[in-house]
Amino acid sequence: MGSHLCDRLIEQGHQVICLDNLQTGRRRNIAHLERHPRFSFVEHDVIVPFSHSGPLDRIYNLACPASPPKYQRDPINTFQICILGAFNMLALADRKGARILQASTSEVYGDPDISPQPEEYRGVVNTVGPRSCYDEGKRAAETLFHDYHLTHGTDIRIARIFNTYGPRMAPDDGRVVSNFVTQAISGLPITIYGDGMQTRSLCYVDDLLAGMIALMESETVGPRPVNLGNPGEYTVAAIARIVREICGAQSPIIHKPLPIDDPLQRCPDITRAGVTLGWAPKVALRAGLLPTITYFRDAVLGQEIGGVA
Ligand code: UDP
Repeated sequence: MGSHLCDRLIEQGHQVICLDNLQTGRRRNIAHLERHPRFSFVEHDVIVPFSHSGPLDRIYNLACPASPPKYQRDPINTFQICILGAFNMLALADRKGARILQASTSEVYGDPDISPQPEEYRGVVNTVGPRSCYDEGKRAAETLFHDYHLTHGTDIRIARIFNTYGPRMAPDDGRVVSNFVTQAISGLPITIYGDGMQTRSLCYVDDLLAGMIALMESETVGPRPVNLGNPGEYTVAAIARIVREICGAQSPIIHKPLPIDDPLQRCPDITRAGVTLGWAPKVALRAGLLPTITYFRDAVLGQEIGGVA
C-alpha cells in the first residue's frame, strides 16, 4: 500500500520521503521511483525517533506488518512498532506542525458481534491472544493519536482500514488473496482455514488509497476514526471459488485449522466516509482480482524461471 501511496503523491506533484525498514516492504516496489527528483527513500525503523531537517506537512504512518503470520512472528516487535512508531511519528508531526494520518485497522473491532461495523462500535478484542499484539497495538495507537490531538492540538486523521488487496503484495504475504491466488496459479491446493464460512470484505488498493488521501486532505472530518473498505462481503469459501474460477485453475480446495481468534465476520459500515469524504469504493472484487492475478503470475512464475518480478 505504501508504494502505491508514493506513486499517487508523486503524481500529484508532492515531494515524498519514504521510510521503511523493509521488514515486510520490498524495495522493488519503489524501484521505479528511486531516481525521481521528488522522491527519496530512507531505510528506517519507526521504533527509532526520526529527525529531518526540512519542512514536512503530511505524515502517513503506515508502518507495521499487517499479515497475521508476519505480525505474529515477533509479537513484541509488532507491539513496539504500533506504539513506539506512533509515538515517534506523532512527535515528528508535533515538531514540524504536520498533519498526520494513522493507518488503523478493522482489527480494532476484534471478532465483532455486529455487522457491518460502524465507527462507534467498540469491538470485542482479546488482550492475550495471538492477534493481540496487532489489535491492541493498533487500538493503543489510536488512543495515542487522540491524546496528542487533545493535549498538543496535533492535526490527526485515523483511517480504519479493512482487508485490502492488489498488485505488489508479497507472494508469501500469507493473507487470503495472496495465498489463494499464488496457490491457484501454481496448481497447488487452495487452503481454506476452518469451514470457510467466515466473511471478509475485500477492497482494491486503488480504492483504498483514494479514500485515504481524501481523508488526509479533508478539512471537515477532524480526528474521528473513519472506516475505509469495500462493504461487499464474501465468505472465505466464496473467495476461494472466485479466485479458482478466474485463474482457470484445477486446484483442489483443502481445509486447515482455523487460527485462534480468527474473526467470524467483517464488513465496514462506510456511511461516515461517504458523508464526510464523498468516497465509496468503485472496484468490484472480480474486477480487482484481474490485475492482481496478472501481477502474481508475473511475480510467482517470474521467480520460478529465475526472472526478476
Ligand atoms: N484464510 C484462509 N486461508 C489462507 C489465508 C487466510 O482461509 O490461506 C482466511 C483466514 O483464516 C481469515 C481470512 O481468510 O478468516 C482472512 O485472512 P487474512 O490473513 O487475509 O486477514 P485477516 O482479516 O484475518 O487479518
